[in-house]
Amino acid sequence: MTRLAACLPELRGRLQPEAPLKDFTWFRAGGPAEVLYSPADEADLAYFLKQTPAEIPVTVIGLGSNLLVRDGGIEGVVIRLGRGFGEIKIEEDHRLRVGAAVPDVKVARAAADAGISGLSFYRGIPGCVGGALRMNGGAHGRETKEVLVEARAIDRKGDIHVLPVAELNYAYRYCGAPEDFIFTEALFQGEPGDPAAILAEMDGIAAYREEVQPIKSRTGGSTFKNPPGRKAWQLIDAAGCRGLTVGDAKVSEMHCNFLINEGNATGTDLETLGETVRARVKETSGVELEWEIKRLGVPG
Ligand SMILES: Cc1cc2nc3c(=O)[nH]c(=O)nc-3n(C[C@H](O)[C@H](O)[C@H](O)COP(=O)(O)OP(=O)(O)OC[C@H]3O[C@@H](n4cnc5c(N)ncnc54)[C@H](O)[C@@H]3O)c2cc1C
Repeated sequence: MTRLAACLPELRGRLQPEAPLKDFTWFRAGGPAEVLYSPADEADLAYFLKQTPAEIPVTVIGLGSNLLVRDGGIEGVVIRLGRGFGEIKIEEDHRLRVGAAVPDVKVARAAADAGISGLSFYRGIPGCVGGALRMNGGAHGRETKEVLVEARAIDRKGDIHVLPVAELNYAYRYCGAPEDFIFTEALFQGEPGDPAAILAEMDGIAAYREEVQPIKSRTGGSTFKNPPGRKAWQLIDAAGCRGLTVGDAKVSEMHCNFLINEGNATGTDLETLGETVRARVKETSGVELEWEIKRLGVPG
């Protein structure tokens, strides 16, 4: 931390040593960040990346709704974007320019208020725009790549890139942008719509979610990607894993592709449970499930 701060005399953002990440993940589990950096804005972030020695690992997180942080925490610097990346601008031709720290639900709401349809699916995704860009977040038959015009990102050297959607090589829950790219902004394209109808659609999405997903639990959402032509939850159910536990980590009874922290589950409990599910599914169906949740850091 001291060595790092010495390289960054003009930094305006905040550096925090040994920062607990539990509070920043939906699972409420896992170890600390060696250093947590909250950039003041994009210029501050670019300065940080230019000045920070290349051997120091850098990891970006969003709202932690798709993250399993291991108990030994994350080495190097964890970047969490905040207010300096929180703007929403309505532009011509039913477009929205949105900072990467804006929660997806606010994108849906701002679009509805402006009479822009096509972005209501973000009502159901509890991450922020940076996470949606990296994960190609999607729901209710739509995904990020269908509504994105371009994204702005900074690489590990501090250079800024503007990437049209075609250059991001999106696929199901996958983004082809280099791993070191940190998204700072997205430009979304919608269509003209009636605000009242869009808000009604969003209410429908919220009600549906409450009925079929344990959204009030400490969870990381869908744990595994759906294999081509199959549903991960059906394979998990068929393998007898519904309700399975390791410590305080449990396979949700309501939606068995969701893992839940029922109290004091550790990162190890959650990961061991996930790996047990993978092994049982492989045994019963021959299918190798692929983690959708991003697992970061070192074991405790
Ligand atoms: C109850 C619940 C329901 C969910 N439902 C859905 C759903 O319907 N559809 C769906 O797609 N997902 C769903 N998810 C998963 C999750 O919300 C999405 O993957 C979301 O896009 C993650 O965003 P985040 O901000 O939380 O990212 P995080 O979980 O913090 O990070 C996820 C990944 O994105 C990267 N990342 C974050 N910010 C940036 C950035 N600025 N630049 C570059 N990389 C970045 C991280 O490094 C990490 O690899 C659900 C999760 C929960 C808990």
